[in-house]
Amino acid sequence: MCIFCKIIEGEIPSRKVYEDDDILAILDISQTTMGHTLVMPKKHYDDFLQMPENEFGALMEKVQQIADQIVKRMNAKGCNILINTGETAGQTVRHVHVHIIPRYDENDTVSFSFTENQYDLDEILKKIKEN
Ligand code: AMP
Ligand code: ZN
Repeated sequence: MCIFCKIIEGEIPSRKVYEDDDILAILDISQTTMGHTLVMPKKHYDDFLQMPENEFGALMEKVQQIADQIVKRMNAKGCNILINTGETAGQTVRHVHVHIIPRYDENDTVSFSFTENQYDLDEILKKIKEN
């Protein structure tokens, strides 16, 4: 059983932000910023690409509600919503989860930078769209 399934089953303790029959939200132990929360389906999927569309939709609906609550209650100025998918993308726990990372100022502990384009946009578009 994966570590998040163990948390869902209550075998490993967690600080629950929200729970219903299908979804659990817990405080991330790393607390990248204050209020950093993970929202996950109780049913195990390795990552979001494996989830049925309707279940992913329901998960994201909850993410929106919980993010709104956290931003307001924590007096944050905004938040990042992050889903790491695959080891290369930084996914360390293979049980789908959505990070809610409240943001308090632009110089806080979170950074994500977009680099200047070095690729042929038309080639990329062709690859993505061709059958
Ligand atoms: P990711 O790198 O997207 O797979 O994120 C996994 C997250 O799970 C990390 O931010 C960890 O800090 C968090 N994490 C790992 N173990 C626990 C735990 N027992 N309770 C709460 N959060 C955890
Ligand atoms: Zn699991």
